[in-house]
Amino acid sequence: MSDKIIINDMRIFAKHGVFDFEKQNGQEFRIDCVLATDLRCAGVSDDLEKTVNYAEVCELINKITISKSYNLLEALAEKICEEILLTYKSIFSVELTVLKTQAPIDIAHESIGISITRSRHIAHLSIGSNLGDSDSYLNFAIAELGKNKHTRVTKVSSFHVTEPYGGVEQPDFLNAALEIETLLTPCELLEFTSSIENSAGRTRDIHWGPRTLDIDIIFYDDVIMSEQRLTIPHIEAHKRFFVLEPLCEIAPYKIHPILKKSISQLCEIEETE
Ligand code: ATP
Ligand code: CA
Ligand code: CA
Repeated sequence: MSDKIIINDMRIFAKHGVFDFEKQNGQEFRIDCVLATDLRCAGVSDDLEKTVNYAEVCELINKITISKSYNLLEALAEKICEEILLTYKSIFSVELTVLKTQAPIDIAHESIGISITRSRHIAHLSIGSNLGDSDSYLNFAIAELGKNKHTRVTKVSSFHVTEPYGGVEQPDFLNAALEIETLLTPCELLEFTSSIENSAGRTRDIHWGPRTLDIDIIFYDDVIMSEQRLTIPHIEAHKRFFVLEPLCEIAPYKIHPILKKSISQLCEIEETE
């Protein structure tokens, strides 16, 4: 999708900066904003209701910029991007440039500032439980994910009873897959899902042992990453029928970004093995 709404060089007098004189005297800020959204419907219908009203977006940017004094342009820019993405569900991403016209430096300059891009992301999660009231723990995970303003649960598979994996003698599992929309980064999402596991009383006594709640990040857009704390796609997902089968209900056509096969294909391969 390459459609964009472009707001160029808004000029707003405001009082951001680390120094007291910046907070007291204020200065002019210049803001550019590029919104990625699908403009096709508005184009063929000529109907304002089918697009994002740029006058409203300008008002929102203005309100955020004048209503509070931030130390950093970074903080102002994060807030503007966040509010735009939370307010307009049809905007995929926001590219925002904020410039100071009187930055506190001695060298002559036209303006100095920052530019950030923030987007909506789609993640697929696998949730599982085999300790206590597993049905309630899975529902708890779904409810908690939905309570965070940066995350929306968009699809939920049915709950599958599955046999334990990894050789530890333990009760059967209840497994499900979720699709979420999120403004969190992969690491922030892992932190958030870990906090939900902890609230559900998750302990880590035996590797692959029984647990009240396990939340694994299977995919995050088509991101491929491998860091000490987080590997995406989940490194074992394609080998686990208990992950693939529920996922196939909600995302059969999702392509595994490394294996280049759809979930439905991977599910079929695992089922026949
Ligand atoms: P498995 O990861 O094989 O399903 P597990 O879920 O039982 O095993 P945990 O104890 O829940 O393992 O997690 C161990 C660590 O795995 C976590 O602390 C986390 O940092 C890391 N991890 C790496 N990649 C992921 C991912 N994609 N989703 C969730 N956790 C991950
Ligand atoms: Ca797991
Ligand atoms: Ca886990």
